[in-house]
Amino acid sequence: MEISEVRVKLVSNKDDRLKAFCSVTMDNEFVVRDIKVIEGTTGLFVAMPSRKMSDHCEKCGGKNHLRARFCNNCGASLSENRAKKDFKGRMKLHADIAHPINVECRKKIQEKVIIAFNEEVERSKQPGYKPVEMDEPDDEIPEVIS
Ligand SMILES: [Zn+2]
Repeated sequence: MEISEVRVKLVSNKDDRLKAFCSVTMDNEFVVRDIKVIEGTTGLFVAMPSRKMSDHCEKCGGKNHLRARFCNNCGASLSENRAKKDFKGRMKLHADIAHPINVECRKKIQEKVIIAFNEEVERSKQPGYKPVEMDEPDDEIPEVIS
Protein backbone atom coordinates (compact mmCIF):
# COMPACT_ATOMS: atom_id res chain seq x y z
CA MET A 1 0.00 0.00 0.00
CA GLU A 2 1.29 3.42 -0.92
CA ILE A 3 0.04 6.67 0.50
CA SER A 4 -0.61 8.82 -2.52
CA GLU A 5 -1.95 11.97 -0.90
CA VAL A 6 -2.34 13.55 2.51
CA ARG A 7 -4.54 16.59 2.94
CA VAL A 8 -4.15 18.54 6.15
CA LYS A 9 -6.54 21.00 7.71
CA LEU A 10 -4.84 22.80 10.58
CA VAL A 11 -6.82 23.48 13.73
CA SER A 12 -6.00 26.93 15.02
CA ASN A 13 -6.91 26.67 18.70
CA LYS A 14 -3.45 26.89 20.30
CA ASP A 15 -4.40 25.40 23.65
CA ASP A 16 -5.93 22.34 22.15
CA ARG A 17 -4.03 19.06 21.81
CA LEU A 18 -5.79 18.55 18.50
CA LYS A 19 -3.58 20.11 15.80
CA ALA A 20 -5.11 19.02 12.50
CA PHE A 21 -7.64 16.90 10.66
CA CYS A 22 -6.31 14.90 7.73
CA SER A 23 -7.54 12.81 4.89
CA VAL A 24 -5.21 10.15 3.53
CA THR A 25 -5.49 8.60 0.08
CA MET A 26 -4.12 5.08 -0.39
CA ASP A 27 -2.96 3.83 -3.80
CA ASN A 28 -4.79 6.68 -5.54
CA GLU A 29 -8.11 4.98 -4.91
CA PHE A 30 -9.15 4.78 -1.28
CA VAL A 31 -9.55 7.71 1.12
CA VAL A 32 -9.67 7.66 4.90
CA ARG A 33 -10.89 10.86 6.50
CA ASP A 34 -10.93 12.23 10.03
CA ILE A 35 -7.40 11.14 10.84
CA LYS A 36 -6.17 13.50 13.55
CA VAL A 37 -2.79 14.96 14.43
CA ILE A 38 -2.53 15.27 18.18
CA GLU A 39 0.12 16.82 20.39
CA GLY A 40 0.96 14.12 22.90
CA THR A 41 3.27 14.31 25.88
CA THR A 42 6.15 12.96 23.78
CA GLY A 43 5.41 14.79 20.54
CA LEU A 44 2.98 14.64 17.68
CA PHE A 45 1.11 11.46 16.94
CA VAL A 46 -1.61 10.39 14.59
CA ALA A 47 -4.99 9.15 15.79
CA MET A 48 -7.14 7.01 13.55
CA PRO A 49 -10.76 7.97 12.95
CA SER A 50 -12.91 6.70 15.76
CA ARG A 51 -16.46 6.78 16.97
CA LYS A 52 -17.79 7.18 20.45
CA MET A 53 -19.05 3.94 21.86
CA SER A 54 -22.46 3.80 23.46
CA ASP A 55 -24.62 1.38 25.40
CA HIS A 56 -28.29 0.91 26.22
CA CYS A 57 -30.13 2.10 29.30
CA GLU A 58 -31.21 -0.79 31.56
CA LYS A 59 -34.58 0.84 32.22
CA CYS A 60 -35.77 1.94 28.77
CA GLY A 61 -33.22 0.62 26.26
CA GLY A 62 -32.29 4.17 25.15
CA LYS A 63 -28.86 4.64 23.63
CA ASN A 64 -26.33 6.74 25.55
CA HIS A 65 -22.65 7.57 25.31
CA LEU A 66 -20.60 5.66 27.84
CA ARG A 67 -19.78 8.88 29.66
CA ALA A 68 -23.39 9.96 30.08
CA ARG A 69 -24.47 9.98 33.72
CA PHE A 70 -28.19 10.07 32.93
CA CYS A 71 -30.20 8.43 30.21
CA ASN A 72 -31.01 10.74 27.27
CA ASN A 73 -34.34 9.07 26.87
CA CYS A 74 -35.80 8.46 30.36
CA GLY A 75 -33.47 10.38 32.66
CA ALA A 76 -32.55 7.31 34.73
CA SER A 77 -29.24 7.56 36.51
CA LEU A 78 -26.55 5.49 34.79
CA SER A 79 -23.60 3.87 36.51
CA GLU A 80 -20.45 5.92 36.23
CA ASN A 81 -17.82 3.34 35.38
CA ARG A 82 -19.63 1.09 32.98
CA ALA A 83 -17.17 1.46 30.09
CA LYS A 84 -14.83 -1.47 29.54
CA LYS A 85 -11.26 -0.80 30.64
CA ASP A 86 -8.25 -1.11 28.37
CA PHE A 87 -5.10 -2.94 29.42
CA LYS A 88 -3.90 0.13 31.28
CA GLY A 89 -7.13 0.36 33.23
CA ARG A 90 -8.51 3.40 31.41
CA MET A 91 -12.08 3.56 30.24
CA LYS A 92 -12.46 2.57 26.62
CA LEU A 93 -14.80 5.21 25.18
CA HIS A 94 -13.89 5.20 21.50
CA ALA A 95 -13.53 2.50 18.85
CA ASP A 96 -11.41 2.88 15.73
CA ILE A 97 -13.31 3.02 12.44
CA ALA A 98 -10.24 2.33 10.33
CA HIS A 99 -6.77 1.48 11.56
CA PRO A 100 -3.50 -0.18 10.54
CA ILE A 101 -3.12 -3.77 11.69
CA ASN A 102 0.63 -3.77 12.07
CA VAL A 103 3.39 -1.52 13.34
CA GLU A 104 5.01 -0.98 9.90
CA CYS A 105 1.81 0.31 8.39
CA ARG A 106 1.11 2.50 11.39
CA LYS A 107 4.61 3.96 11.12
CA LYS A 108 4.22 4.58 7.40
CA ILE A 109 0.96 6.45 7.83
CA GLN A 110 2.20 8.38 10.84
CA GLU A 111 5.42 9.49 9.10
CA LYS A 112 3.62 10.65 5.95
CA VAL A 113 0.96 12.49 7.92
CA ILE A 114 3.46 14.25 10.21
CA ILE A 115 5.56 15.34 7.21
CA ALA A 116 2.45 16.69 5.47
CA PHE A 117 1.40 18.38 8.70
CA ASN A 118 4.77 20.13 9.10
CA GLU A 119 4.67 21.25 5.44
CA GLU A 120 1.18 22.64 5.95
CA VAL A 121 2.33 24.50 9.09
CA GLU A 122 5.13 26.08 7.03
CA ARG A 123 2.71 26.99 4.23
CA SER A 124 0.34 28.53 6.75
CA LYS A 125 3.02 31.05 7.75
CA GLN A 126 3.18 32.47 4.24
CA PRO A 127 1.08 35.47 3.27
CA GLY A 128 -2.10 34.69 1.39
CA TYR A 129 -2.28 31.17 2.81
CA LYS A 130 -5.59 29.48 2.13
CA PRO A 131 -6.47 26.57 4.40
CA VAL A 132 -7.54 23.30 2.80
CA GLU A 133 -11.29 23.03 2.38
CA MET A 134 -12.46 20.11 4.44
CA ASP A 135 -15.48 19.59 6.61
CA GLU A 136 -14.61 18.73 10.15
CA PRO A 137 -16.12 16.00 12.25
CA ASP A 138 -18.02 17.23 15.27
CA ASP A 139 -16.83 14.59 17.69
CA GLU A 140 -14.30 15.26 20.38
CA ILE A 141 -10.63 14.32 20.58
CA PRO A 142 -10.08 10.64 21.23
CA GLU A 143 -8.53 9.59 24.53
CA VAL A 144 -4.79 10.07 24.21
CA ILE A 145 -2.76 6.89 23.83
CA SER A 146 0.70 7.76 25.07
ZN1 LIG B 1 -33.44 5.20 29.88
